[in-house]
Amino acid sequence: MAVVATTGEVLAHPELHEGLLESWELRRLARIRLPSRRDDVVAARLLLRLCVARFTGWALRESAPAQFCAECGRHGHGRPYLRGHPGVGVSLSHADGLVATAVGPGAVGVDVEPATRRPGPLPVLRRLLPEAELREAAAQPDPGAALLRLWVRREALLKAGQDGLRLLEWTDQQRSAVVTVASAAPVTASSGVVGGVFGSGAE
Ligand SMILES: [Zn+2]
Repeated sequence: MAVVATTGEVLAHPELHEGLLESWELRRLARIRLPSRRDDVVAARLLLRLCVARFTGWALRESAPAQFCAECGRHGHGRPYLRGHPGVGVSLSHADGLVATAVGPGAVGVDVEPATRRPGPLPVLRRLLPEAELREAAAQPDPGAALLRLWVRREALLKAGQDGLRLLEWTDQQRSAVVTVASAAPVTASSGVVGGVFGSGAE
């Protein structure tokens, strides 16, 4: 299950508020200087709780994601996971007023970017993306948009941390968001959060 929404939509949701966040999350938030970025991080963490609660049937407070960094072996940052539920994968993404989250059985990764964003510069992209895919994107009618989709796909796969996953990509025109979900299981995608439920399904 994957959801994309604006930060404003999530923060206006009646069930979601900062009181749901754990103390380690609040300590991390206190270090973010830019208010809009702080809002994006809060919204992503709250939307993930909502997503997990809807997927599992648990209460919002039981649906909190923990994080573990495999590189330095510390908690509090790195890949998100659910304590005591290693079989359920979770992922979250935020960018400039947009948030997306995903939950599912097995590996899952999600990325969202504003549709107007253009990744680059090209020398950097050349180091990170396969040359054949870059060439293919450059040949598209709108190369910038094609490059962005390539980038979002790469980020979603990186977050999932596993190869051979299904990819679901879509553009939410209303929110001007490009989204990709990489997952082991089939994905149901929704846009927006309305009252206690998600908004209309994507596609
Ligand atoms: Zn680390």
